Amino acid sequence: MVSKDIKSFFVQRLNDWAAANKRPLPWKNEPDPYLIWLSEIILQQTRVAQGMPYYEAFKAHFPNVQVLAAAPEDEIMRLWQGLGYYSRARNLHQTAKTIAIQYQGKFPDTYEEIRALKGVGPYTAAAIASFAFGLPYAVVDGNVSRVLSRFLGIDTPIDSTIGKKLFQDLADTLLDRNDPGKYNQQLMDFGAVHCTPQQPLCPQCPLQSECIAFRQKKTAQLPVKNKKITKTKRYFHYLVPKFDSQTLIRKRTQQDIWKHLYEFPLIETEQANLDIHDLLAQNHTTLDWWKPEQLIEIRQTGPHKQQLTHQTIIATFWELELQQIEQNQLPDQFVCINWKNLDKFAFPRIIDWYLKDNSLNLFSQVQQN
Ligand code: SF4
Repeated sequence: MVSKDIKSFFVQRLNDWAAANKRPLPWKNEPDPYLIWLSEIILQQTRVAQGMPYYEAFKAHFPNVQVLAAAPEDEIMRLWQGLGYYSRARNLHQTAKTIAIQYQGKFPDTYEEIRALKGVGPYTAAAIASFAFGLPYAVVDGNVSRVLSRFLGIDTPIDSTIGKKLFQDLADTLLDRNDPGKYNQQLMDFGAVHCTPQQPLCPQCPLQSECIAFRQKKTAQLPVKNKKITKTKRYFHYLVPKFDSQTLIRKRTQQDIWKHLYEFPLIETEQANLDIHDLLAQNHTTLDWWKPEQLIEIRQTGPHKQQLTHQTIIATFWELELQQIEQNQLPDQFVCINWKNLDKFAFPRIIDWYLKDNSLNLFSQVQQN
């Protein structure tokens, strides 16, 4: 499939490129598997620049797996806030507990054991196994698939079942078994900064003479992807009550990406631009914690828009200034808290944006008080 000559050309040129193109990152050459794991989980679906401050914060707050395992989940979610894909934070906590109890705090050192940890897929397991323990497992992420697809001129879709297996096999074949961790890092770096999705640096590429995509002028066509992601639109209407400097929040328990984050009372609709009075009237059975005569004012903020992989969230925040609420009619799981304590809770990013919006009347009034 790949000749020995091509393999040694690839490995040697990649090594030369890496020597001349250092990419210093805080987790590079890190020997501690716990910190490697932490960085890899943070970097899943996240750009390096965005993930870096989170890595530093987690490392400072939770310097080892035992400290992370013993931390309250709310503290972890609060620190994760803004990074998205919150299941990663929940899995991080769960896995830290597994390592603390099942492995007595010592990070497992075989690929199979690492792969069995919650939140660790084949890519992350190969990264940890090779970086921390020098085990011969090739990482295959989007960067690696792109480089291999172009260099070897392969148009099998990288996201198809056949393509995934093929690119894993190719990566395994090309892996430099003398130093798998170093090689994996070099290849990922090369894909991230040199053979980039748009405008790869072909004119100064050390692989150019053997690169099939370059020779056949196909760099723009490779790699091939099958899936077109279909996105659904969801309209969220958050009701943000304020009464005596208090508001209402609850911890989400649904099995979705916001599980264990906090939120205000929420009504989801299929259309945008609903009249708030109609919306409240249609949902009056779930809103019996306040009475219309207790309403002083309604203000609207937003809509705020958040683009997720498979859905677009359009959130409008309706600030309800109330004389009081019916404390004995609170909806399930909701608690009253003081506005000033909102920063102690982890919210989905779209609520966080709202809370940080200084134009927000209610919030800024409370800040000034
Ligand atoms: S020549 Fe261009 S397409 Fe080929 S590996 Fe180098 S940067 Fe990527």
